[in-house]
Amino acid sequence: MINAERLKQHYEAQSQFGKIAETGICRPAHSPEEKKVFELAASWMQEAGMKTRIDNFGNLIGRLEGTNPDLPVLMMGSHLDTQPYGGRFDGIAGVLSAIEAVTALTENGIKPERSIEVISFADEEGWRFNKGLFGSRGITGKYEEGELDRTDGDGITRRQALLDFGCDITKFKESEYKPGSIHCFLELHIEQGPVLDNTNQPLGIVSGISGPLWLTVKLKGMAGHAGSVPMNMRKDALLGAAKIIVALNEITTQDPTAPTVGTSGSLNVFPNSRNIIAEEVVFTLDLRDIVQSRRDEREKELREKIDAIAIAHGLQYEISVDTDSEPRYCAQWIKDIIRSESTDMGLNIPELMSGPFHDALALSYFCDYAMIFVRSKDGISHNPKEYSSYEDLAMGAELLYRTMLRILEK
Ligand SMILES: [Zn+2]
Repeated sequence: MINAERLKQHYEAQSQFGKIAETGICRPAHSPEEKKVFELAASWMQEAGMKTRIDNFGNLIGRLEGTNPDLPVLMMGSHLDTQPYGGRFDGIAGVLSAIEAVTALTENGIKPERSIEVISFADEEGWRFNKGLFGSRGITGKYEEGELDRTDGDGITRRQALLDFGCDITKFKESEYKPGSIHCFLELHIEQGPVLDNTNQPLGIVSGISGPLWLTVKLKGMAGHAGSVPMNMRKDALLGAAKIIVALNEITTQDPTAPTVGTSGSLNVFPNSRNIIAEEVVFTLDLRDIVQSRRDEREKELREKIDAIAIAHGLQYEISVDTDSEPRYCAQWIKDIIRSESTDMGLNIPELMSGPFHDALALSYFCDYAMIFVRSKDGISHNPKEYSSYEDLAMGAELLYRTMLRILEK
């Protein structure tokens, strides 16, 4: 069994680093605040018998050496960086639960054959340099050229931030994992959505991470005086955008049993004057679904709708694809273990997709993976109000612990 009281103390201790307001945290990637919380987390890893290091991508890694160090490792973790106005649980839950699972293992005198690594990935959140999953992409060989030149709001480059953090940026290769060297990856994470809370479930088994399709639509009409151009002679780009946004909503809600979601969250209007019919509108569309074929179908409907609306309003349009990631499914064999262990714990928990992406997404291209979700109160996240109860978090850590034990038996 994991120790719920110790876990709670760890949550409270880490929440002091970068603390904002009563319950919030601002802990930027590669920052002194993150360095301090890494030192704290490393001390807990060491108490659990792990050897710790910070690699050249700025990941904190604790390793419990197995009796057969040649076996691919069982990796668990998440991230300790937060949003600028973030909460105490996003990412943190996955790191602390993993540390707790290994601590419980050591306390029980179990010496696994397979080595275990607990990792806190660098810059999952991505807001500081406007590109996330840095550490998880790094170790899996998905580092991209030019990333070191990205700057934060103060003009500091990622290069400088990593150097200040103590990383050797000339030795990224040494921090990459060889293909096949990770047996599987487990990530516990708060849901960050309202599904579990609404259905009164403490935990969930993640089916997969739905791939987002990110489109930018540019509509071009004709500017004109808001008072003089008759309605039937207008080419109103903002009206067209409004109709497309409504269409996205209708397309994604047509099947209430499907988890499809669609969002338009950013819109730029030109010339943006109350007295001028909008000439040009550029806006974003975000479409997600765990079933690729259904998402493709919805995308097709959406594109047809955009075309029809543009024609009806005399608008020209361009659509650019900014991101098109496929859904990444969790490994069935690990989901089966999680299912059977949760049943043994007396739970009957649902399976649900992850709309947000996580470090596990990067790992999914490298090894089998699975995720456990913990209920988020009212679905609030990326906000100091983010809340998961210590009871739920402990239950999640226990499920992670049991899943880990079963995987180690294999
Ligand atoms: Zn997270």
